[in-house]
Amino acid sequence: MAETTAPTAAARTQCPYCGVGCGLEMLPPAVAGQSVRRDAEGTPMWTARGSRTHPSSLGQVCIKGATVGETLSRGRLSEPLYRPSLGEAFEPIGWEAALELLVGRIRHSLATRGPGAIAMYGSGQFHTEDYYVAQKLLKGALGTNNFDANSRLCMSSAVAGYTRSLGSDGPPCCYEDLDHCSVAFLIGTNTADCHPVLFQRLVKRKKRHPRSVTIVVVDPRATDTSRAADLHLAIAPGTDLALLHGIAHLVLREVGFDSDFIEEATDDFAAYAELVAAWTPARVAALCGIPEEQLRAVARLWGSRRGILSLWSMGVNQRREGTAVVGGLINLHLLTGEIGRPGAGPFSLTGQPNAMGGREAGGLSHLLPGYRLVTNGEHRAEVERAWGFAPGSIASRPGLTAWQQVEAMEAGALDLWWVAATNPLVSLPNLERVKAAMARCPLVVLSEAYAGSETAHYAHLLLPAAQWSEKAGAMTNSERRITHCPAFRPRHGQSRPDWEVFADVGRRLGFEAQFSFTSAAEVYAEFAALSAGRVCDVSGLSHDLLEREGPQQWPFPTGSAPDSASRRLYTDQRFPTPSGRARFVADQPLGLAEPSCDTYPLVLTVGRYLGQWHTMTRTAKVERLQAMHPEPLLEIHPQDAERYGIEDGALAAVTSRRAGLTVRVQVTDRIRLGSVFLPMHWGFNQEPACEANALMHEQACPISGQPELKATAVCVAPATAGGHPAH
Ligand code: SF4
Repeated sequence: MAETTAPTAAARTQCPYCGVGCGLEMLPPAVAGQSVRRDAEGTPMWTARGSRTHPSSLGQVCIKGATVGETLSRGRLSEPLYRPSLGEAFEPIGWEAALELLVGRIRHSLATRGPGAIAMYGSGQFHTEDYYVAQKLLKGALGTNNFDANSRLCMSSAVAGYTRSLGSDGPPCCYEDLDHCSVAFLIGTNTADCHPVLFQRLVKRKKRHPRSVTIVVVDPRATDTSRAADLHLAIAPGTDLALLHGIAHLVLREVGFDSDFIEEATDDFAAYAELVAAWTPARVAALCGIPEEQLRAVARLWGSRRGILSLWSMGVNQRREGTAVVGGLINLHLLTGEIGRPGAGPFSLTGQPNAMGGREAGGLSHLLPGYRLVTNGEHRAEVERAWGFAPGSIASRPGLTAWQQVEAMEAGALDLWWVAATNPLVSLPNLERVKAAMARCPLVVLSEAYAGSETAHYAHLLLPAAQWSEKAGAMTNSERRITHCPAFRPRHGQSRPDWEVFADVGRRLGFEAQFSFTSAAEVYAEFAALSAGRVCDVSGLSHDLLEREGPQQWPFPTGSAPDSASRRLYTDQRFPTPSGRARFVADQPLGLAEPSCDTYPLVLTVGRYLGQWHTMTRTAKVERLQAMHPEPLLEIHPQDAERYGIEDGALAAVTSRRAGLTVRVQVTDRIRLGSVFLPMHWGFNQEPACEANALMHEQACPISGQPELKATAVCVAPATAGGHPAH
């Protein structure tokens, strides 16, 4: 759809892709004296450039952020569409009829089966306002905690790990720590491809002052991240917790630890020390498949240096023991006192642009706004009072997690699954099972900005969403910095912001007063007030202040001066636990839920490409990005390729216990012997199709509920001419 106005001023906002949350300046299609910029389809196009005034990125931007202007108008969903069954074609329905249908079905479910038959699956691409109103609708008005988000697949192990060890969610570090650390310990993160602006900040420092920082990368695969490392530990998949315990063993016995910090600021050290005593260097080196000297070298860094910053993302979180691995990493920081100081601390790198804001707004099935818990009676009462619902309105048990929502559909226990701003038919594991489950659900609603996503193929009601750039809202990046994202373009077609639709549904259900919001600023004001006194206190923030003063970090309680927030949490060595002390956690390593075996002798790990993002609903629309990665490639070690008769550039069949696919092969020693790699971006709608996550299993961390999307057992074979061979 063509732009309908001709704005001339640049808009300052946050990049809508990854959790680095870089500042962007969006330049309008026509600036004075220049011709109108147009995308490949001839639509006037806003152009992105890095915002020098944004403190998180200081003018830097990667190719995804730089090309986001090309994605905003193309392939959009323009109007509400409906079909009674999956076998029928979609027909326009109009907003009024769509919302009446939706509200009628909600009322029917509430009357016949109760609130547990309704669930919503949201997204880290929501603005905080979308998240907040969704919580109020589901958890307050409907009385079900069945709201989960794709953060469950991304960061829920980090959330659980921080909470277990430190007493609360909330990354304690900031990006400036990249400039101050003496050791950057990167584990389970391909930062070069997934968080490129942060990676470049570290690499530039290393180039300028090579001896100022030692970079350690722990990853079974060699990547652009590991190429920049002083030390790359290419450990066997699933052995990272053993590695962390092995480092602790050496720090305790041979290198030196911070006994004062342990004494003054921690609990439960004895059980941990006893546990790691058994993880001797020889045992750990053998299990991890690394030379013992590498292990000792890393332990020496942990024990002798000041300023150790550990960075992690999906490689740690997407594990059936994800929370335990996060705990193992935080243990090392507690052991060495490396937290709450410049250049030190455990720092999760968030995948999505506002997954952090979602956590703050209560956007997981066990949370309420302000890092509150649904299981805590005081927390429920505080939120019920603030929301204006009767005592007892909020259910006391956690709702269904992402995968539990799939299982509920499978069991016929859900009447209505409302998916918003995400594409689970690419990102969830075991996709054939998800498709079958969705096909059983009587009403699947999809709120989405773009037309034709994989998930839309299994939906009944499509609601066009106004996306970033078309609606105002706030987003929080990985360093707890909140940016106001203005609406600087007109909404596409009949699209509406998600928060507005959720509020409309709330009013139609009879909750006029609770959902009387007339602007995103009003929504944010209510959320901010509810955060007062919590770790993530933003009660001093408002849309006005963020627009006027620029992005701000939390905590930002009422009365705070702009730019006065402490860059780091826990600088006073006090933690939000009942004792005020951080906790060591002692978990025995379990390894992979599905290790390789005779039938499936290779471990498949999945990851991301620099030029693609998530399920490609945006990035597939940019020719430059597509040209960087024209197709997905299966990386396989030369010896494995020879063993299984696979040739470089040929097609191979990859089969797991759940599914199979055909994909082109890249023979490379980047990948460990015994492992193979696929990107996760491609779905069944892309050309070529490559549903990597269809191969993956759904076994999840029992604490965080995050599925082990990072590893599954597969076999590979040359593909037959027609594609996948019979197995
Ligand atoms: S690093 Fe992330 S936030 Fe920054 S421009 Fe790239 S995709 Fe956007």
